[in-house]
Amino acid sequence: MANVKPSGAPADTMPVSSLSGVSPGGVREAQLHKLGIYTVGDLLRHYPRRYEFRGDVVTVKSVLDELSVPSLLYPFPSFLDNDNIDTSYELTPKSFILTVVTEPKLVTAKRGISFIKFRAADDTGVCEIVFFNQPYLKRAFPTGSRFRFYGKPTLARGSLRLTSPSYEAAPPGAELAPVVPVYSLTSGMTQKIFSGLVKKAFSFAASSLVDRIPEKLREKHSLPTIRYAIKNIHFPADEKSLNAARQRLVYEEFLIYALKVMRIRATRDTLCAHYINKTDIKPLVSQLPFPLTGAQKRAINDIYADLRGKNGKRGLMYRIIVGDVGCGKTVVAAAAAYIIIKNGFDCAMMAPTEILARQHYADLSALLSSLGIKVVLLVGSLKAREKRESINACCDPNGPPVLAVGTHALIEEGVRFRRLGLVITDEQHRFGVMQRAALSGKGEVAHVLVMSATPIPRTLSLVMLGDLDESRIDEMPPGRQRVTTYVVDESYLERIEAFMKRETEAGHQVYVVCPAVEDDNTDGASGSGRPEMMTAVGYAEALSKKFPDIKVAYVHGKMKGAEKDAVMRAFAANEIKILVSTTVIEVGVNVPNATLMVVLNAERFGLSQLHQLRGRVGRGTAKSICILISRYAKAKGTTAYERLETMRTTYDGFAIAERDLALRGPGDFLPSSESTRQSGDLPINLAGIEGACAMKLLDAAFSDAREIMSDDPTLSKPEHEPLAAITAPIEGAERTIS
Ligand code: ADP
Ligand code: MG
Repeated sequence: MANVKPSGAPADTMPVSSLSGVSPGGVREAQLHKLGIYTVGDLLRHYPRRYEFRGDVVTVKSVLDELSVPSLLYPFPSFLDNDNIDTSYELTPKSFILTVVTEPKLVTAKRGISFIKFRAADDTGVCEIVFFNQPYLKRAFPTGSRFRFYGKPTLARGSLRLTSPSYEAAPPGAELAPVVPVYSLTSGMTQKIFSGLVKKAFSFAASSLVDRIPEKLREKHSLPTIRYAIKNIHFPADEKSLNAARQRLVYEEFLIYALKVMRIRATRDTLCAHYINKTDIKPLVSQLPFPLTGAQKRAINDIYADLRGKNGKRGLMYRIIVGDVGCGKTVVAAAAAYIIIKNGFDCAMMAPTEILARQHYADLSALLSSLGIKVVLLVGSLKAREKRESINACCDPNGPPVLAVGTHALIEEGVRFRRLGLVITDEQHRFGVMQRAALSGKGEVAHVLVMSATPIPRTLSLVMLGDLDESRIDEMPPGRQRVTTYVVDESYLERIEAFMKRETEAGHQVYVVCPAVEDDNTDGASGSGRPEMMTAVGYAEALSKKFPDIKVAYVHGKMKGAEKDAVMRAFAANEIKILVSTTVIEVGVNVPNATLMVVLNAERFGLSQLHQLRGRVGRGTAKSICILISRYAKAKGTTAYERLETMRTTYDGFAIAERDLALRGPGDFLPSSESTRQSGDLPINLAGIEGACAMKLLDAAFSDAREIMSDDPTLSKPEHEPLAAITAPIEGAERTIS
């Protein structure tokens, strides 16, 4: 999917190597490919991740005055008088125009650390500038020269300091861009070079950009043209033109997304399923050591109705079961598999990781084997002979129908089923509509059931799950313990670490979660003054050093699947006591012995994400605790504080999701731009679009898409032509059964 580019528009067919400075087969081209940029159009649609508003220049004195307010002694949170925090708690980066007044001095400190240091001034005062580990910068700042510096100012012994600021030469009369874009890049590519390439691409191809939004709709919503939008998303003249550009591009992405979803749905609704007889699930239910909850029964009934066909019409089931971690989705999946298999069809169940697949295999074969159902496992680490046996069991024309449990990769690729009747996907918590369509398009026409632990707000579910019917499990099995949640600031870290130690000494295990590392890929021209965030690897090392007798390990998204699985397995086997991770454990395993969940920089996570993380503990009988660490722990009046409070006081995933939507808008619920590289869903970066505004654009795009579909279902009218190709349902999804 990722490599298939829409064709037709010249900018979209022109390879990036047609730009000067990018030679075919060269290093630049390889770097661009790594970013998913193949054509000039791709380059123009690689939007900045954020912007620096460097146009508002401040004076040294004004910042000194601001910084001297005692309650704002940032960035030393432990010195803070926490009760006085307001929303200005953190000084934002600022722009200064300063003349270098002392010659840069190179200082070599211990352990290979060096820095250069000099003073620069404006008419109101002097500022100290420091750069770490860039000795070559010594010659970049001759005395008397003028620069625009951009960074977070701090106070050092009474005077102002900028550490590793971005800088640009600013000789008198120079024209400096008021808003500077910052892109997500790959190593070796700098902001300056990338920006230059975008500039070239724009002058080269702007006139050949095709406007995908029909003019009528563009006018209806007063949105700018594609040419204006592309220009201003990269090189905004001011904040207003940036916003106009952003709205237009977001609306465009939403419209495309909506049309894709609707076209997939329309295609699927023409498909016809195998006939399913009346099937009694009592034998299955009587195997369970507990009665089903009402919500589980309702979900099973929904599935049964889908499978049997509505109003005499045998359509395909395409249903998602949404419910909090631990609400009992596996049993619902088992019931669906049971019905299908009793009717002579095979069922495939896919999990995102091998360890989850193994867990399901263990649970489901225990439950279903005694009912005469064959359950097989299909994961990468099986011995060749075992794998062959499993594959044979699926395709042997004389064998009984099977339930094959495995990882996505394995079931998608090698296996041919005799008569595949149902595909169940578990924990697909980021919704890849297109990915799902691609899956169901493979092989035969089968019913689809998706299990998700990410509750989606009602208002969004229509939109997000446009291609699915939804069953909600909004009731927990009786007797579940509540994971008491605390929200504290970083000054508690020491105490929390002591608590981690005590928990492990009591025989329990601990999860620690850090936000993913953001690589800003800065160069001299746009360094970042942001404080380093704690990373999983760094923190795991610090903990190991501190507690040499406790086995600490880390796992993060950049590790290979097998490596990740190995660590998770060791954790599940209680060989690792403290597991430090990024959010990969979110799609997680069941480790009932884990009793403590600690989340660092908790304000950076979506609430639903935090809720899922919290669901990783409290699965056993021992009392479990979740500690959210954030410097907004006491920052009353901020959105961050409100969100953390929601976590502390609310334990219902659906309620949390509604609250998160109200506070932050739909961004956290939509597929992220990283995941889109694979799934082809929503490439836009919503950062910077206010929540309510994004919601409005989303609604508008969906209602416009509905109108387009009823007026021109095949998108054959000329004004819909640019939309037709890019929203075409994936090939294969159209196959019907003979
Ligand atoms: P999830 O929805 O997160 O996939 P699981 O299906 O793994 O949840 O179920 C979590 C636990 O709850 C399992 O140990 C399961 O046996 C148990 N369980 C499921 N349904 C019920 C029920 N109706 N009553 C009691 N326990 C249940
Ligand atoms: Mg589950």
